[in-house]
Amino acid sequence: MTGLDPFIERSRIAYISMEIAIKPEIHTYSGGLGILAGDVARSCADLELPVVLVTLVSREGYLRQEIAPDGRQVDHPDPWIPADWAVPLDAMIAVEIEGRPVWTRAWLHVVESPLGGDVPVILLDTDVDQNNADDRRITDRLYGGDAVHRLRQETVLGIGAARMLRALGFEIEFYHLNEGHAALLAVELLRRTPNPVANERPDDCPSDAPFDQDLCAQCLFDVAHVRARCAFTTHTPVEAGHDRFDYEDVKRVLGDFIRIDQLRLLGGPDLLNMTRLALNLSGYVNGVARRHAETTRHLFPGYRISAVTNGVHPATWVHPGLARLLDGAVPGWGLEPELLVRADQLPNTEVCAAHQEAKHALLEEIQRRTGVAMTPERPLIGFARRMTAYKRPDLLFADLERLRSISRLFPFQLVMAGKAHPRDEPGKQLIQEIHGHIRDLAGDIPMTFVPGYDMEFAHALVSGSDIWLNTPLPPLEASGTSGMKAALNGVLCLSTLDGWWLEACIEGVTGWAIGDTALGTAGDDAEELYVKLERTVLPLCYGDRDRWVWMMKQSLSKIGSYFNSHRMMKSYAVQAYFARP
Ligand SMILES: *Cc1c(COP(=O)(O)O)cnc(C)c1O
Repeated sequence: MTGLDPFIERSRIAYISMEIAIKPEIHTYSGGLGILAGDVARSCADLELPVVLVTLVSREGYLRQEIAPDGRQVDHPDPWIPADWAVPLDAMIAVEIEGRPVWTRAWLHVVESPLGGDVPVILLDTDVDQNNADDRRITDRLYGGDAVHRLRQETVLGIGAARMLRALGFEIEFYHLNEGHAALLAVELLRRTPNPVANERPDDCPSDAPFDQDLCAQCLFDVAHVRARCAFTTHTPVEAGHDRFDYEDVKRVLGDFIRIDQLRLLGGPDLLNMTRLALNLSGYVNGVARRHAETTRHLFPGYRISAVTNGVHPATWVHPGLARLLDGAVPGWGLEPELLVRADQLPNTEVCAAHQEAKHALLEEIQRRTGVAMTPERPLIGFARRMTAYKRPDLLFADLERLRSISRLFPFQLVMAGKAHPRDEPGKQLIQEIHGHIRDLAGDIPMTFVPGYDMEFAHALVSGSDIWLNTPLPPLEASGTSGMKAALNGVLCLSTLDGWWLEACIEGVTGWAIGDTALGTAGDDAEELYVKLERTVLPLCYGDRDRWVWMMKQSLSKIGSYFNSHRMMKSYAVQAYFARP
């Protein structure tokens, strides 16, 4: 395995993320945010960008999902062994938490590109002899524990990342904070920058609090230096979704790391809002789709919010059969996915054969995981995402009689997957209700729920389904990425208009929209979904194969050529990493 030395010299940009989906065996991710960070790593390796990524080691993983006979999700730890996949590094740093030094070591995993490049991922780990039993568990469970535990994790992630990179010898010029979890990194930079004496408020001061020379001298004058070195990507479109901490807890956990009155100026007067903190300390801020950037401008007026729409890593998410076809037709697509614009010229028979191969592989995987046999003949609808209320995984089941009558006209089958966060009780109830619906419909419509949604099953599902269904309640889907993976495989998206789909949907060409506007109510959306399935999508699938395959190719070429993580990273490079104000 490659050591760290070659990376220390060349890495100039650090990308900090609470989760990174490196590979299925490394359980350092829960869902979309981590998959995105993993695709960032893979694109950086392909494009040989000078980036180092930092995350927590999350030894206990996120969640191994078991579904009990009554349809309830049962939560288990999902451990992995760092030594199997990473090499330990020598450096050790401490961050002060609740008055104690918490010692943190690091592991190195190198993401290697099939194109020859590579990129380092540093995994922070507090499970060392020097720490007490509680502190050893800080980096155990991804998103585990209560708010104070989360704050400890974010302290290790943010402050720990900056210190570890320095201890390892990196000379980082620019930091990219992926979501607000890592915002304390910017506060650490603030503490490190020199303290010129300020006697007036600087032009770029983010605070609207009254100027207080004593308070501002240390903090606000230096904000400009920190802002010039930080980019922040926000992923959350609702106020309640942003991490917020009680200042009493902050005081207890961080001690005298920073004066709380200063922190209030940067992170909000009543609660420490990690998004606000990152917004105030980052010179470049973006939302993850155009719509999401707009939503964020409304949530946080007065900030300049750019938009870089998410993308997925093409070579990771395209099924091998289709990848072989693309290698022949558009060589070089792995380095330059723009070339996929020409995938609309692929021969229909070969596209169909590649898709059938992916569909068979999916059916085998479903049978292996659940024992349920589905058929290659019927159209297969795939639905998989975090099981939480706003994603509306139950929308399709709004009227079971209606669903039955559609399937009598146009038989179809359905595969679902997704985890609920252990403390998301409504999400868990949705999983249980869905299992009830699946039982009710048994005999009429073949349906199954596959437990343990992960990278590996996602790959099978986004390539082997025929129709990719997505029904979030607008405007709550910041971007969404699984539809992009489906599109890259010629799987057609049927989705409410939100997030990335507003930019990608050409009705009847790249897929279909549910609802004319982004503001439809839940009841209307269910009706629209049924109408679209019954009158447009399924009739086309059964009645006009040529048009269907034409759409598959339109989806692959028009979506794949743009909604990929190479384009996304080039945008970050141009707009943030290598742009100087
Ligand atoms: C792509 C992916 C996600 C994100 O899917 P969305 O549709 O954006 O919610 C979540 N989990 C896994 C395992 C994925 O592969």
